[in-house]
Amino acid sequence: MTVSQGTADRRHELAANLAALRRRVIAACRNAGRDPEEITVIAVTKTFPAADIRLLHELGVHDVGENRDQEARAKRAELAAGGFDPDLLRWHFIGALQVNKCRSVARYAAMVHSVDRAEQLPRLAAGARERGRVLPCLVQVNLDPEVSPGRRGVPPADALTLADLLADTPGLELRGVMGIAPLDGEPAAAFATLAQVARKLQARYPAATVLSAGMSGDLEAAIAAGATHVRIGAALLGTRVVGV
Ligand SMILES: *Cc1c(COP(=O)(O)O)cnc(C)c1O
Repeated sequence: MTVSQGTADRRHELAANLAALRRRVIAACRNAGRDPEEITVIAVTKTFPAADIRLLHELGVHDVGENRDQEARAKRAELAAGGFDPDLLRWHFIGALQVNKCRSVARYAAMVHSVDRAEQLPRLAAGARERGRVLPCLVQVNLDPEVSPGRRGVPPADALTLADLLADTPGLELRGVMGIAPLDGEPAAAFATLAQVARKLQARYPAATVLSAGMSGDLEAAIAAGATHVRIGAALLGTRVVGV
């Protein structure tokens, strides 16, 4: 098989970005007195082609993040059609989770980061059951100080109530919390709030050890606050042309 020049260039670009990202994670861990082994880097591949996912896998990435069910399924199908088993990677669903997409997402996601409504729970459980496995889930916490209705994530004060419902749903496993720092705010303050929710949750559910926080612009603050999973798009794959 010949590798096109374009593919070779992209591989070099991704390899360089990955190396730089790993240095950032290591430096952030050193500053926070943490072990880099505690951090899972999720490559957020939304809007980028399936070919990039394959290259990332060849470069040693094990976790990818997608935020739209339709896009994730299309990429999985394309990879499979090209002879690459998409389940060689763990697929993290990090996007807004419409109730009518839950069942589909649960069929392939290794972890769902964006549970924020009770109505999602039975649908996620149904999909997990069809797949014959328990689905690890995170409660998404809204870290905007001025929480308005319709925003993604439950207010911090409601996280434990949703977590209780999740933990009581057969087929789902409560693994922790996820949060996105507000664009215009101070990430350290937002992540401190998230870490506080995570501690309360873990006091009740010792297996809920996952703290999904940190993106390209704020991964250092997230690691300082205790993030176990960072979700990195732009710093790895480049600037997105479309989408959020
Ligand atoms: C897009 C996205 C990311 C990645 O953001 P970057 O700034 O590109 O690193 C992380 N988390 C969520 C929920 C996202 O939607």
